[in-house]
This record gives sequence, C-alpha cells and structure tokens, in this order.
Amino acid sequence: MNRGQIVEEGFHCRRCGIWHDELPTGYGAEAPLLFYQLPARDRGERVERDEETCIIRGDPDAYFIAANLEIPIIGEESPFVWTVWVSLSEASMERTLEHWETPGRENDPPCFGWLSTDLPTYPATLNLKTMVHTRPVGERPFVELEPTNHPLAVEQRDGISWDRVRQIAEAVLHDD
Ligand SMILES: [Zn+2]
Repeated sequence: MNRGQIVEEGFHCRRCGIWHDELPTGYGAEAPLLFYQLPARDRGERVERDEETCIIRGDPDAYFIAANLEIPIIGEESPFVWTVWVSLSEASMERTLEHWETPGRENDPPCFGWLSTDLPTYPATLNLKTMVHTRPVGERPFVELEPTNHPLAVEQRDGISWDRVRQIAEAVLHDD
C-alpha cells in the first residue's frame, strides 16, 4: 500500500514501541489484486493500465477503475481514504471512458462494481459489492459499499476514531 495524505503529528506505535513521525490518513493500491496475481510475463502482454484504469485481456477481458473509498473520521472534516480498484462491466467501463473528459459527468448515474482490492485489517474485502459514483472531471470517483455488516461497510457508515486510524497505520507499516 502506498501512503495517501499524511497528518503531521506522528504517533506512538503499540506494535514496535517506537514513535513513528507520520500518521497517514489514507493508503492506496497501484493495481487491482488480479494484476499482482498474474505471472510477470502476462503483466507485460495482457495488461493495459495507467494510474486510474486497468484492463486485463483474457477470456473475458477484465475492466478496473481506481476509486476512493472514504471513511469518515469522527469529528473531522476530511475522511480517511482507501484508494481501491473496482471491477466494472464492459458497458460501464465504456461509458466511463467515453465521459472521462465530459463536463457534468458527475451527474451520470452510479454504476455497479466489485471491490478488487484486498484491504489490510479487515476480513476479506475482495468482491464486496459497490456502487461507483463519478465525480467532476479530474477527480477520482468514490465508492459506496453495499450496506452490509462487513466491518468495512460498517466503518463507512459509522465512521472511525483516530485510535482506529493509528491501528491501521500500525498494521500497514508492519505489513500485516
Ligand atoms: Zn511501529
């Protein structure tokens, strides 16, 4: 996971007992999980990707888009952000690419997608059901999880504390 936004203050780590200088309020994956599961040779031959989209050729082709899964931090204006990948149908991907530079695209209806990133500190998050909402040109779409009792969906609904943000940092830093 790459670090997202950084909050200035560090924190005392319960895992290793030392002070870490930064407490990130977000992390991101560079590609969908399926990409990492491909043999290196296939990554070169079958994958078309940039920072925001990824197409993996196969039977059938798989279409992915980067999106922000935002979790409110209780009492704060800015949310915690997991930048994740979501798998879209071919039709949804086509529409997404067609409207990539279209002013007003944020008025498009949301489209269905399968979460394609396995996030640390939760029970399996792969293939959770989501709706992907377009934002204005230049901004990443955001993900609305199906409102289940999965801890990630509960966090998106109810928000998290700073203590939970630190717990996530401990897990990511120490690579759980
Ligand atoms: Zn530590």
